[in-house]
Parts: sequence; structure tokens; C-alpha cells
Amino acid sequence: MHSIYLDNNATTPVHPVVLEQMLPYFNERFGNASSKLHRFGWQADEAVQIAREQIATSIGSSTQEIVFTSGATESINLAIKGVAQAYQNKGKHIVALSTEHKAVLDTLEFLGSFGFEIELVPVNRDGLPDLNYLSNIVRNDTILVCAMLANNETGVILPIKEIAQIVHSKNSLLLCDATQACGKIPVNVDELGADLLALSAHKFNGPKGIGALYVRRKKPRVTLLPQLHGGQHESGLRSGTLNVPGIVGLGAAAKLFLTNPNNFSEHCLPLRNELEKSLSNAGCKITAQTLERLPNTVHVLLPGIKADRLIAIVPNLAFSTGSACSSALAAPSHVTLAMGFTEAESYTSIRLSLGIFNTKEEIKQAESTIIAAWEKLRS
Ligand code: PLP
Repeated sequence: MHSIYLDNNATTPVHPVVLEQMLPYFNERFGNASSKLHRFGWQADEAVQIAREQIATSIGSSTQEIVFTSGATESINLAIKGVAQAYQNKGKHIVALSTEHKAVLDTLEFLGSFGFEIELVPVNRDGLPDLNYLSNIVRNDTILVCAMLANNETGVILPIKEIAQIVHSKNSLLLCDATQACGKIPVNVDELGADLLALSAHKFNGPKGIGALYVRRKKPRVTLLPQLHGGQHESGLRSGTLNVPGIVGLGAAAKLFLTNPNNFSEHCLPLRNELEKSLSNAGCKITAQTLERLPNTVHVLLPGIKADRLIAIVPNLAFSTGSACSSALAAPSHVTLAMGFTEAESYTSIRLSLGIFNTKEEIKQAESTIIAAWEKLRS
């Protein structure tokens, strides 16, 4: 039976063009990018420089502002812990949206046990933050505010520019987790007003285990204390031999998708709209349907059933009942709970996330399979 993959917010397949560019760097051009004395090292270093240029161009930064990491979780850890340690004399107050990814929330909880004061901003039923609340709690000793550009579970796009204005009015710094937005909508660090920005290649048809952290160098110059010490790689911010094939893949995927997210949108939006129309007509409830959302994400409530029972009877469909990172836990999603859904409602929700390889036929088959399974479980 043909399996239909609708879990692209969890991860995506590597695009063949990206893979082709990566392959030589596993064997033929295997050099260490830090080896300055021979051709093998120069070749690897040149590939890293090209990739750094590709990623910088795609988000509107300079190459010196890019730090390669192992993915968004590491980028977020470096940003939050690095700022906390570097600015603790200014203050110990850190703010985040209550719907942030666990990579943010768990890191903040960890810092809380070291004397940092963590405050979360509530969101409404659509997942939008209360900006008045944010304005009131950001103080002169607030060293960092963490806000994602797009939510991984609902696809809702957050008002980062407005958040940045509030944050900067108190001379605080903004970390924007753009992991889900990259490759799907335009991401430009200056337009957003981000001082730090996290991204991960495997969310936009690049390889797993590689990502980047953007660190603003001017107006203001952000200081971070490194979290990995060793050979002073990445300007001393992230020691460790560079993952050259991964970096090449990140650069290639950035060039294909990050620089021009319209291609993604043009492919996914009509499919998503079609899927939503059928599910709504059948009586399902689409979350935040009228809001600005990622062009590929459908978060939907299937009243009267538990989503894990539905997943169990549609083995040819791959999708999620929450974020991939939290679905190993039996607890309902912290995102929907923060949005004011009851536990019971949260358990009825599923996330369908489309990608560049999904076809119209697949979407048609997925919608009829889900609707039939839902009706069967309710009867
Ligand atoms: N932030 C968001 C919004 C995510 O959706 C994810 C992964 O699902 C992450 C961070 C973590 O990304 P990575 O898998 O690259 O560590």
C-alpha cells in the first residue's frame, strides 16, 4: 500500500539536488575544514564558505553572523544559555511565549533552577500572544525574549515585528525560533527585528543534524558565551570539527527553498486549502483557520474521538497528534493547552503538514481516509 507522508513539520526528505551536492563531501572531498596546510582542508573550507554565503543571503545577514550548529535545538540552547551567561550582570529576567517549542521551554526551566526568573506570555484561543501583557512584563532587567515565527503544531504565524518593537524599547534582545518558518515563508532578520534566529536544515528538505544560529553583530552587537569548548571553531562560539556534508546540504537547501519560499507556498497552499475545505465540510474544526498561517499546516479537531485511535486505523497515512518532539509523551500538547483547549479537546487534535512532494491525488486520498476513519470511530 502506498504510504502518504503528511508529517513534514516533523522532518522532510532530503531533496535530490541537495543530496547530490552533499555526496562528494563524504568521501572524495572528506577534508577537515580547519586543516589550513593542504588541499583537502582548503576544498572543505571553500565548500563551507559557499554554504555560509548561501544561508546568510537567504535570511539577509552577513556571513560573520552565521554559526553552524547541529540543528535548531542546539541553536536555541546556545542562544538562550549564551545570552543568560553573558548578560547576567544586566539582569536575570527572561520571557517566552507559552507556546514555544520544548527546546526553548525546557532550556528556560533549566535556567530557572540557576536563579533566572522566567516568565511566560499567555496566548489566546488562536495562539496569538497578548502584546499588552508582553509590554507590561518586559523590564529594564529583561535580558532576552523568545518568540517563534511560526508555531510547529498549528502553523500560526506570530507578530514578530511588533514583538521586536516591544523588546527593543526596553533594550532587551529577541531570539526568534524560525525553525518552522524557514523555507515556507520569507525570513529576513532585519525585517523581523531578530537579534538571534534559529533554523534547522531538515525542516526544509535539507539533511538532519545541521542547523544554524544567526547572531546579530551590529545594532546591537550580541555577545554570547559559548556552550561547547574545544578548537575555537565558528569564531569560538561552537567548537567541534565542522559537519561539512551537512553544511553543504544546509546551504544547498537554503538556496533552493529559503531564498524563494514562494515555490513552496505555490505548491502547498492549494493542496492545504483543498484539504481544509473537505475536512471542514465533514464537520472537523480547523484551528485558527482565519489567521495568517504556514501554507502547509492543518491543525484540526475531530470531535468525539481520540486522535491516537484514528492514527492506529489508518496505517497508510503518516501524520502527527502534536509536535514530533513531544508526541513520544502521552501528555496532551502544551501548545493546545496554552491556547485554552481542554485536555479532552487536545486529545482530539491532529496535525497534517504538507511538503513539496505531496500530490493532489495523495491529498484526496488522505481526506477521504481520515473522514471515513473518523466516522467509523464515532459510530
Ligand atoms: N523549534 C521548532 C519550532 C521545531 O518545530 C523544532 C522541531 O520540531 C525545533 C525547534 C527543534 O529542531 P531540531 O530538530 O533541528 O533540533
